Amino acid sequence: MLPYSTQLIDDEDIQAVVETLKSPILVQDKKVEEFEEALCRYTGAKHAIAFNSATTALFSAYLTCGIGIDDEVITSPISFVATSNMFVALGAKPIWCDVKLDGNIDERFIEKLITPKTKAIVPVDFAGKPVESKTINEIAKKHNLLVIDDASHALGSSVNDKKVGTLADMTIFSFHAIKPITTSEGGAVLTDNDEYAAQLRLIRSHGMVKKSLWVSDMTTLGYNFRMTEIAAALGISQLKKLDSFIEKRNEIAAYYDERFKNEKLFATVKLESGLKSSRHLYPIILNPELHCKKEEIYKELHECGYGVQIHYKPIYQNSFYREKFGTVFLPVTEDFYRSEISIPCHQKMSLRDAKKFADKFLEIISKYSYRGCSF
Ligand SMILES: *Cc1c(COP(=O)(O)O)cnc(C)c1O
Repeated sequence: MLPYSTQLIDDEDIQAVVETLKSPILVQDKKVEEFEEALCRYTGAKHAIAFNSATTALFSAYLTCGIGIDDEVITSPISFVATSNMFVALGAKPIWCDVKLDGNIDERFIEKLITPKTKAIVPVDFAGKPVESKTINEIAKKHNLLVIDDASHALGSSVNDKKVGTLADMTIFSFHAIKPITTSEGGAVLTDNDEYAAQLRLIRSHGMVKKSLWVSDMTTLGYNFRMTEIAAALGISQLKKLDSFIEKRNEIAAYYDERFKNEKLFATVKLESGLKSSRHLYPIILNPELHCKKEEIYKELHECGYGVQIHYKPIYQNSFYREKFGTVFLPVTEDFYRSEISIPCHQKMSLRDAKKFADKFLEIISKYSYRGCSF
């Protein structure tokens, strides 16, 4: 099966993990610090705080900026559920903003969703394409809101050579197995704000500060969201290869862009000038006449050995959200969910794999186009 995305672990990664396993300290220590420093150097952010997942990183970021009961958070429904789950866990309410046909939040709709209860804007850099951070930051500044960017897909993405990680008050990355780099499970918050960084470190580890010798003091309610030394060793090794991973994914994406540029039955996502994408996903946007055939297209691709995936079911369609917050319908979001298919694009596949996939994909698509949907 050629999956839509997968990790690439080489001997150097394995060596780094094995060496760390033999060291006396396995829990958060020097390797975690080294990984955090490497993340700062790579992105240009002042602070990086590593976590055991992006989910706990999101939770800690929301908690740090004081999101709580009855606050409202404006966010994108085209994301993994953790983006909103973690502020809902703190008692806040999601205010869903419609997306554009690239899957990113539509910044034109944000301002009219703002109320006196709004605390933050949480965009998601879908597939690795950076959101319109300049506009979003201006809106946030004008209304005294925070921007927390869920950049789980977007480590290595940039806007005019400024890396994602420096374009919001706090930025969250995921190092889950199939994200742009992996620590098996892991995440991080990046920020330039010293107070947030200190608070994030406290929340990550029981809210405790060391005073002297054996004496410590718990100054705030904290958790154990720490990354292990083993995971950090893998992260350090993977981060060295991130640019080559991205280059490879961009090579595959460029091939698809060229191959599909005259397609009438589906569209691909364009990157406007100045934008660089990690290419975590390569989304295909089917035209409406193929929406009703998506299940068949998906099934047939899987039968042919292609592990395509759909990103994402709008978060508000989940029964938990419907029961708690009522029914929501956002037209472009609904359309996006009906249209989107993520096709294989990762550093472990070859251009030949991409070509073979494209041949099969076009064959299947054209077959279904004859039996298009009726309206
Ligand atoms: C993967 C992902 C998460 C969760 O990341 P974990 O590291 O698995 O907790 C959150 N948001 C988005 C957009 C993701 O893709």
